[in-house]
Amino acid sequence: MKRYKRILVTSALPYANGPIHLGHLAGAYLPADVYVRYQRMQKRDVIYICGSDEHGVPITIAAEKQGVSPQNIVDEYHQRNLDAFDRFGMSFDYYGRTSSLVHHKTSQDFFKQLDQKGIFNKKTEKQLYDKTIKMFLPDRYVKGTCPVCSYTEAYGDQCEKCGSSLSVADLKNPKSVLTGQEPELKETEHWFLPLGELQHKIENWLKDKKNWKPNVIGQVRSWLDAGLSDRAVTRDLNWGVPVPHPDAKGKVLYVWFDAPIGYISATKEWAAEKGKPELWKTYWQDEETQLVHFIGKDNIVFHCIMFPAMLMTYGKFILPDNVPANEFLNLEGDKLSTSRNYAVWLEDYLEKFDPDLLRYYLTINAPETKDSDFTWKEFQQRNNGELADILGNFINRTLTFARKRFDNKVPAKGELNQTDQAMIDELRKAPTLLGTSIEHFELRKAASALMNVARMANKYFNDKEPWKTVKEDPEQCATTLHICLQAVQSLAILMEPILPFSAQNVWQMLGHKDDIHDHAWEEASELALPVGQTFGEIDILFRKIEDEKIEPEILRLQKSKPMSTEEEKPETERVTIEDLAKIQLKVATVLQAEKIEKADKLLKLQIQIGDETRQLVAGIAKHYVPQELVGKKIIVVANLQPAKIRGIESNGMLLAAEDEQGAFSLLTVDRDVDTHASIR
Ligand SMILES: [Zn+2]
Repeated sequence: MKRYKRILVTSALPYANGPIHLGHLAGAYLPADVYVRYQRMQKRDVIYICGSDEHGVPITIAAEKQGVSPQNIVDEYHQRNLDAFDRFGMSFDYYGRTSSLVHHKTSQDFFKQLDQKGIFNKKTEKQLYDKTIKMFLPDRYVKGTCPVCSYTEAYGDQCEKCGSSLSVADLKNPKSVLTGQEPELKETEHWFLPLGELQHKIENWLKDKKNWKPNVIGQVRSWLDAGLSDRAVTRDLNWGVPVPHPDAKGKVLYVWFDAPIGYISATKEWAAEKGKPELWKTYWQDEETQLVHFIGKDNIVFHCIMFPAMLMTYGKFILPDNVPANEFLNLEGDKLSTSRNYAVWLEDYLEKFDPDLLRYYLTINAPETKDSDFTWKEFQQRNNGELADILGNFINRTLTFARKRFDNKVPAKGELNQTDQAMIDELRKAPTLLGTSIEHFELRKAASALMNVARMANKYFNDKEPWKTVKEDPEQCATTLHICLQAVQSLAILMEPILPFSAQNVWQMLGHKDDIHDHAWEEASELALPVGQTFGEIDILFRKIEDEKIEPEILRLQKSKPMSTEEEKPETERVTIEDLAKIQLKVATVLQAEKIEKADKLLKLQIQIGDETRQLVAGIAKHYVPQELVGKKIIVVANLQPAKIRGIESNGMLLAAEDEQGAFSLLTVDRDVDTHASIR
């Protein structure tokens, strides 16, 4: 892996039209924060840039719904989200906002530069127009039926059901979100980024991105394979960055044109605050900078195709080195839905629990390569069984033992035996092991490795039985505690990226007066806790979470679980006639039926299909007595892989119907046909 001189990390700018929820954190924010904190502990030159996206249709729609100005909405949520992020331990170097003057100027400069270079195609086209309110309807101002999956509530820019990126013209049965009216088509002129013409350049750049995550490369590949098409970078709206062109009255930059430029403007503001206004250029224009964008999978196209295309055509700018996009986080088995309040909001969470518990669970269960599921039960289990029972337990038992038996100080070690040496070896390896995972964006692995160090340390404590040696062999007991305390110190450093609040706590319990951030990652392997150092105040690190504490959370979510209304029902996947032909259905006569010992749900049947006799096992003993089956004609899947059920061979599967009240019926034939009959 190439080691750059400096690193610029960004997280997708959250829309300032609502509070932050767990899905946001797991996708674009927490992984970036862990990565950045680690790089800082490595003493690398790294800055972490984010901010509020204050433009775009979701904001104007929210404002219209609440009857306030968009400015009111963004002012409120910019502040609320910034506060919540801060309490969650997000360590941005700068958190900007796209309504700032610097941002407006920067994105207008971008547009002008591309316009002057003749990059854009200007096209007049027909767009949806709501004549009742005399307004064009870009993006989310239109809802309709998705042309890909037939979901009826798809937005003009994206279908949230199948994830397809759409344009308003793709929607079937479009409706204005504001009036519910069917819009008409009206001509308007827009500037387009000619992605089709740039495809070759983009492909060339992506060629050597072999280390990117497969889910990201896969999505980019499918965009490229489908062939890129021009994308409008302007919109007929009055909220946003005005298009700097004399012919563009009443038009603003498309939010996905200006939002990623927000990373650049925020870096400019950061540099200005530092009193070095030109410093931003080092981070954006020097080839020795590694640019890493953390995003959720819904933003892949913008960060891997559109923004790089803008940077390339502008010139001077570096391109992203990696875009480690995450998949989605689900909630108790269902998709998050902010409109239905089916989400866990960070602000609410922080009222009830500590940030580190969530940071740990969302890291070890991160949707890194596929969607993952947040459940309160697992949150509780991870806290109680891992943070409290393993990590916290080791740290607390070590410190309390040393306080009691070694006068609240770090004892000196004596001679080492094999067990001691093995533990020390593990500690020496740990920082590289965890660090490598973090550098490869494998944070789940890093969290597991952290917990494993604590697990080994606990085992070491148990194997060495200091509660026995304290009387029988005090020198060995001192050695054990010395090594355990070194492990506590190493753990504190290794914990910092994922569990920053707890790491600092442990640091103080060890009696350090300084900040853990004044120390380096490598110190976790150095075992440099000084002999004789007096401990600070020792307190329980992680407390168990009782059932009573999470039950209300589970209940609240159950109440707002997405209802499967007619509209929302997932379309059953259609199969082709060829798919169907693969399944061989046959009429069979039941020759014999008997109960199976110790299996009160199963019956063993001998059946006849044509000239063949077969045995199958069926879970119907609760619904049929064996005698009533004999002679019945049933329907079976004849070419199912044979299986052994309770050690009994079952060759085929019978078909039955069961309703929600539990009424149960075998499928049979309505008239008499013999068992040579084919089912079509
Ligand atoms: Zn769809």
